[in-house]
Amino acid sequence: MIYLDNHATTRVAPEVLEAMLPYFTEEYGNAASVNHAFGWRAAEAVECARKQVAKLLNCPAEWIVFTSGATEANNLAIKGVSRAVVSRRHNRLPNFVTNTAEHPSVLDVAKRLKRQGIDVTNLSVDRCARVDPQQVADAINSETVLVSVMVANNEVGTINPLAEIGRICRERGVLLHCDAAQAVGKIPVDLQQLPVNLLSLSAHKFHGPKGVGALVVRRDGPRIAIDPLFDGGGHEQHLRSGTLPVPLIVGFGAACKLAMDSDALPPMHALRNRLWQSLQSELDGLSLNGPPLAERLPNNLNVSVAGVDGEALMSSLKEIAVSSGSACSTAEPEPSHVLRAMGVSDSLSRASLRFGLSRYTTEGEIDIAVVEVVRAVGKLRA
Ligand code: PMP
Repeated sequence: MIYLDNHATTRVAPEVLEAMLPYFTEEYGNAASVNHAFGWRAAEAVECARKQVAKLLNCPAEWIVFTSGATEANNLAIKGVSRAVVSRRHNRLPNFVTNTAEHPSVLDVAKRLKRQGIDVTNLSVDRCARVDPQQVADAINSETVLVSVMVANNEVGTINPLAEIGRICRERGVLLHCDAAQAVGKIPVDLQQLPVNLLSLSAHKFHGPKGVGALVVRRDGPRIAIDPLFDGGGHEQHLRSGTLPVPLIVGFGAACKLAMDSDALPPMHALRNRLWQSLQSELDGLSLNGPPLAERLPNNLNVSVAGVDGEALMSSLKEIAVSSGSACSTAEPEPSHVLRAMGVSDSLSRASLRFGLSRYTTEGEIDIAVVEVVRAVGKLRA
């Protein structure tokens, strides 16, 4: 089966696995053990990985706080900042600004905060799932403490205008958090360029292991007070207590190193464009969901096939692994909240296919995928 669901997760790269293995077997020390060499070597490996992550993001290593992934990083950023403000102010509740195309790990946090009395502004997005900087500027009020806008969307690959949104937030004295889970390793995410205060990422989206990620906390701007989600041993600058998963962190660092070397590979966008062009020339009633190809993640394609039942289409695709909407919400029968936010009809949303390429995807695989989709659609339309 050909794997084209790389927005859901990616395979661990061989060099990442190799880097991790010794830390499961011989080097199993606890990075917080200060009394012996097992602990020292584990701590050294963690600090080396921290530098590798920081190098990819072009920021100091001290800004990296390891978490279990982007879900936790998003929760830590949004709940952490909001709760720290609530505990400082006694009579005024803060405002938090986000938008309808975010991942559930942002949207569901916003819903919970709202139930707890925090004022949440959920901005709409345009037909390409893009957040309008002017709407962000208009939404910020005297109680706003935090804005959260994703770098790139996990369903349609939209890249948000963060330079402008960041400039607005900075001028208005509001913190900006960005979920970069889908962007890191695919497009440059450079913290010297991006005016972002908090950034979430996840290793398994770019050939690292599952269960590890980071929240990047900018330390050269305004001080950011964050209430931790867990209390305990005070690891990670008291922001994330819990024994560090040394093998996973080593793999995360190795994946960052690999992502920096990816220039040598054939560009993913060329294969993605080939996929779109071939599908378009072979199928009637095909529509592109999201922004023009040149304005989205290089590995994303999201299309709807008019006149076919989405579920039937998905179950007849035997040779390729793709997703309809987002894998995180496939347990729900509801059409994708992102496509809905973009104004795509429910029937076209249900008949949507999301393709996610990786650095390992080949031209041969793309050509097989095209044949498979054309065959399945032809059978359903017959
Ligand atoms: N944000 C985005 C944009 C994502 O695509 C995902 C993964 N589906 C997450 C957050 C959650 O990441 P993790 O699996 O590391 O919790």
